[in-house]
Amino acid sequence: MRILLAEDDPQLGDGLMVGLRQAGYAVDWVKDGVAAELALQSEPYDLLVLDLGLPRKEGLAVLAALRARGQALPVLILTARDAVSDKVEGLDAGADDYLVKPVDLEELAARVRALLRRAAGRAAPLLSVGELVLDPAAHRVTLAGEPIELSAREFALLQTLMEHAGRVLTRAQLEASLYGWQEEPESNALEVHIHHLRKKLGAERIKTLRGVGYTMPKS
Ligand code: CA
Repeated sequence: MRILLAEDDPQLGDGLMVGLRQAGYAVDWVKDGVAAELALQSEPYDLLVLDLGLPRKEGLAVLAALRARGQALPVLILTARDAVSDKVEGLDAGADDYLVKPVDLEELAARVRALLRRAAGRAAPLLSVGELVLDPAAHRVTLAGEPIELSAREFALLQTLMEHAGRVLTRAQLEASLYGWQEEPESNALEVHIHHLRKKLGAERIKTLRGVGYTMPKS
């Protein structure tokens, strides 16, 4: 899961980026509205965390342009003041949720999980494919009730495959969901993670479509 963070305050932005990365997301951080627009038009993000008071282009203008382009990704706005008008304007412009600064990182992570879950069309907090169950909040995976130990990347990769079970994901799509700009993956890193997941979960759970990508069969 890859998140774009648009926040001009260096200290807050740094704290949010670290917090979201610890929660297991790939995060790209931009510090003004124009950079946010460019990033949104060039990378496949799963969610946008958007400060409303941004230099060069206001957050509300970024949001309006995003929705005008038909981009449906969930947007969580950050407002500096607890002003009702800011929240109402933001929600009316197409935001899905808001947080008032100062931001509590645990609350941010919980709201991000809820937004991603709804965007994936799920009401239930747990993801399940056959006997495989993944709990995004607790960072726990069980197979037929038995806990499975996974690294942070393996967990993120498995979550992406489970969210799209039954569909084919290209190598580029999977890499884009796992790595932000500053993290250049080793050329075979994805294959290594897939290999580890197969060893832990059973080879049949992730199928390779040669020259195309990977898929997790439904059940
Ligand atoms: Ca700001």
